[in-house]
Amino acid sequence: MLKIFFFFTSFLYCISGISQENITLTYTGNMGVLISDHQSSVLIDGLHTKYGDDYLFPSEKVVHKINTQLQPNIILFTHYHGDHFSVPLSREYLVLNKKAVLFGANQITKNFSEFKDRVYTITTKDYTKKTIDIGKIKVTGLKINHAGKRHIEVENVGYIIEINNKKFLHVGDTNWLEEIGLFDQLKLLKENIDIAILPYWMLLQDDALILIKKYINPKTVIATHISPKIKEKELLDLKSRYPEIHFLTTLEQQIQL
Ligand SMILES: [Zn+2]
Repeated sequence: MLKIFFFFTSFLYCISGISQENITLTYTGNMGVLISDHQSSVLIDGLHTKYGDDYLFPSEKVVHKINTQLQPNIILFTHYHGDHFSVPLSREYLVLNKKAVLFGANQITKNFSEFKDRVYTITTKDYTKKTIDIGKIKVTGLKINHAGKRHIEVENVGYIIEINNKKFLHVGDTNWLEEIGLFDQLKLLKENIDIAILPYWMLLQDDALILIKKYINPKTVIATHISPKIKEKELLDLKSRYPEIHFLTTLEQQIQL
């Protein structure tokens, strides 16, 4: 009898061990994702407000949930544009969550001088990667140019997040930018990325899958920055063209990884 009891206890222990290893990614609008291993979590581009009809943003309810229940240990921002970042919401988060830290380029972090010791600035003068350990999470920030000529002055930072033995890449508002050899310079292959979070327009060119494999080679791709106004047919076409890729379109949509 005792043996059976021990067998079941270790069996249950194993199951709970396995489930703890799972990572849940929750969508918070536009390029916003919360990545959690159920002990620690990070929120990337997750606090912003309405910017226009083409951009999904976290509702008041979702922001409240982030502030009081999800409570990520780290909030990171790729750049300052209003469909990715809000100063008041970020400030509110840091006030409510006294141990949380914030990452961004100087164009982001200059707004938080009163939280000096909880703010990490990623420089964008070259493509050197900078890694900082926050508890059990490793955060690497690196310059990745913003797409579009008119945004040349925008400091866009990509992040490699290592959490529970998985590596996530979030690139922010970039594109392949082959004209400047961007991804040649980023040297991402040696990072062994498991999950790449990309704006969906990086999938629109014909050789997208070749470029993803050549420059990132992730096991999983997640597409974001999809307009709520996208035509149903366009989205269905994309999904059937890329059956392996996850498309984030609904607030609080979740992917288990
Ligand atoms: Zn932008």
